[in-house]
Amino acid sequence: MSSGGHRFDPTLLREYDVRGVVGDTLSAADAAALGRAFGTIVREAGGRSVAAGYDGRLSSPMLEAALVDGLSACGLTVKRVGLGPTPMLYYAVHELDCDGGVQVTGSHNPPEYNGFKMMLGHAAFYGEQIKRLGELAARAAYATGRGTTEDHDLLERYVARLAADYRGEKKLTVVWDAGNGAAGPAMVKLTERLPGRHVLLNETVDGTFPAHHPDPTIEKYLVQLKDAVAREKADLGIAFDGDGDRVGVIDQHGRVLWGDQLLALLARDVLAARPGAIVIGDVKASQGLFDEITRLGGKPLMWQSGHSLIKAKMKETGAPLAGEMSGHIFFADRFYGFDDALYGAVRLLSLAAGSKLSVGELRDQLPVFVNTPELRFPCSEARKFAVVDEVKARLKAAGAEVTDVDGVRVKTADGWWLLRASNTQDVLVARCEARDQAGLARLKQQLIGALKPSGIEPPEF
Ligand SMILES: [Zn+2]
Repeated sequence: MSSGGHRFDPTLLREYDVRGVVGDTLSAADAAALGRAFGTIVREAGGRSVAAGYDGRLSSPMLEAALVDGLSACGLTVKRVGLGPTPMLYYAVHELDCDGGVQVTGSHNPPEYNGFKMMLGHAAFYGEQIKRLGELAARAAYATGRGTTEDHDLLERYVARLAADYRGEKKLTVVWDAGNGAAGPAMVKLTERLPGRHVLLNETVDGTFPAHHPDPTIEKYLVQLKDAVAREKADLGIAFDGDGDRVGVIDQHGRVLWGDQLLALLARDVLAARPGAIVIGDVKASQGLFDEITRLGGKPLMWQSGHSLIKAKMKETGAPLAGEMSGHIFFADRFYGFDDALYGAVRLLSLAAGSKLSVGELRDQLPVFVNTPELRFPCSEARKFAVVDEVKARLKAAGAEVTDVDGVRVKTADGWWLLRASNTQDVLVARCEARDQAGLARLKQQLIGALKPSGIEPPEF
């Protein structure tokens, strides 16, 4: 049956998703081959149908069409949900009884990028499974059959589901920024259903991202939102990344609530309803998060960064809530367990509307630490994992208190520092956090000292 194999660019198949530069490392032929390889895996697992959707990038419709051809050539029924945020595709897999799903998305990356996020059954598809796509494509070892396609307009139903979990009477003024990404149309419809006053920014989908880069975890891309919150005297501001699976939040003073602070607040309602439940934060999160989960009567669990890994750990442990510094927030409490930034916003607004305190006051109740931002030190692809292993080995030999679920996180009397190899770039990622500036200075020196024997001399930070 082989009709000649297909080779993906070696940079295309990554740990948590598939991503490349359109016209350079990613083409329609890649999308078709990915559809065939992924469709083959769905068929092998006994599946019959897959959902397909796409984000607002200029190249997305072209890639989606090729993807759908590949999937249906495997004999699958392809349920096309069209343009929408990635979580709407996840929702489609659950609600349209699909055996898997593929979203064409370049997430928060620049306009020339695109890629794919996948689900097999109700689980994230990642790691070794993604490598297997390359093997199947290289051999053209594909399932065959006569597939069909169906169009499903899910937007109203999806938004109604999000809004159904809103609680709270207080009328809030909220500024929202979709960054011209795929969350825009859902954001418009969602805010029509919510009480209060809603001011919308960049709600029109535009794959050139004319206003700013669609990444709400980088503070310079929140300037427009901050200005609007101040001008409108709003209670808070909410921003989404390009495909609506990551959220950024600012309070009424324009101060950012980082992913771990957001999770610490969202944990209140969840743990009140489910005392003793596990809440998962990633290794980049503040000690303040884990302390707060304990204080609220929950069980904190520190896990590896990466949305696919967090979702798998939630399933394994039955955790009703998880989150990452990067702004992925995952609710299994009253929801499906996937990362949906719009749903996270609904839950945050419920919390704010149900509280006597302002968002800024809620933020000020959280434990205060001083920390570095996420630090990025250049390190070659060939060396980055080895450097982390070397540092870990030296620390363990020296008797340091080390957590190694992801890279190495070292706890000292001052606080902690983290070193890990990025899965997506040729950098080492580090972060330090202490109770005060003097402690932070000591942690930084320890980090520099730990890297030196491996030949890494970080630029000043
Ligand atoms: Zn995203």
